[in-house]
Amino acid sequence: MHKTVTKLADGRELIYYDAEPAVRDAVDARPLSPVAGVSEVRVDPFTGDAVTIAAHRQGRTYHPPADECPLCPSRDGRLSEVPAADYQVAVFENRFPSLAGSSADHVTPWSDGPYTLAPGTGRCEVVCFTPDHGASFGDLTEQQARLVLDAWTDRTAELHARPDVRQVYCFENRGADIGVTLGHPHGQIYALPFTTPRTAQALAKVAEHRRATGRNLYDDVLAAERATLGDPDSRVVLAGEHWTAFVPFAARWPYEVHLYPNRRVADLTELDEPARAEFPRIYLDLLRRFDRLFPEPAPYIAAWHQAPRPAEAELALHLELFTIRRTAGKLKYLAGTESGMGAFMNDIRPETAARTLREL
Ligand SMILES: [Zn+2]
Repeated sequence: MHKTVTKLADGRELIYYDAEPAVRDAVDARPLSPVAGVSEVRVDPFTGDAVTIAAHRQGRTYHPPADECPLCPSRDGRLSEVPAADYQVAVFENRFPSLAGSSADHVTPWSDGPYTLAPGTGRCEVVCFTPDHGASFGDLTEQQARLVLDAWTDRTAELHARPDVRQVYCFENRGADIGVTLGHPHGQIYALPFTTPRTAQALAKVAEHRRATGRNLYDDVLAAERATLGDPDSRVVLAGEHWTAFVPFAARWPYEVHLYPNRRVADLTELDEPARAEFPRIYLDLLRRFDRLFPEPAPYIAAWHQAPRPAEAELALHLELFTIRRTAGKLKYLAGTESGMGAFMNDIRPETAARTLREL
C-alpha cells in the first residue's frame, strides 16, 4: 500500500492510498475558505451517553446531481474534493465535520450539578472506496477491497495516536433510505473524543462476564456460534479459515450479521496477514448476499467496532452489518418501542434470517 498525504485548498488533509506507487501531485484549484468545525459533547445524566451537538452542519451539501458529485475525481474542468483525475482510494477530512479539533478553541469544558459539557474534538473523515460513481462496495474487486481495509487500518493507527481521540469508528451507510446524501460509494471515519454508548455497554458486560467466568465474552459467543456449524438452525452465514459471519442470537434488525476474526484482536491494526488476506473474499461475499436479499439492493449500515484507547484489550474487533429493510419495499422504522424505549422488536427469527442468507 502506498500513501500520499496532501492538502486541499482550505487546509484540510487529503490522503491517497494506491496499490502501487503513484504520483499524486494534483493541486486543489477551488477558491475554498476554511470552515472551523465547532461542536459540543453533552452527557445525558440518566444514561451517561455522550450526545454531540454540531449546529453548524445545516449548510452541508444535500443530494447534489451526479455531475456535481464532490467524491468523483476532478475531470473535464469539473473540480471536486479529490483534485486528481483518477484515484484508487482517497480519504479526506469532512468539510462540515460533526467533530473537529478546532472545537477546543471555542468551547470550554464545564460541569455543573447533573450536567457535563466538553468540546466535540476529534476528527471526521470521508473514505472514497473507488473513483467509479455508479459502483457499490459489493462491486469492488478483492484487490480494491483489500486497499480499503489497508486504508481503514492506517487511519485507525494514525487517529488513535491523537491525544483528543478515544475511539476510532469506521463505517459505511449505503442507500438513500438510510439518509446518505451522496450516491458515490464512500464511508466515513469518526475519531471520537468519547467511548460510544454501544461500546460502553459492551465493555460493562464483557467485564461482568470476565469476573463471573474468567473468560472473554466475545470468545465465548464466537465459540458458541461456530459449534453449531452444519446444524440447519445454525446462525452462521459464512465460516472462513480466519473469519466467521453469523446472525447474532438477539438480532435487533431483520437482517443483521456480525463478522468476527477467528483470532480475537482489539482493532484493525492487530489483524495478522492471513486474516487481512481472507477479509476481502468473505466481506464481498456477505455484501453480495445482502444485495441479493431483495429485488432492489438493500440499504445497509456496516459498522466496525474497535476497542477504545487507551487499551481496552477485552473489546474484540468485529463488523456489524445490517439493513433497515424488512421486505421488498418495506423499511423497518425505529418507532415508539425502539426510539422511545430502546427496546427492539424484530419480525424475523435470527435462525431464519441466517438460513435465508446462507442459501442466497
Ligand atoms: Zn461520484
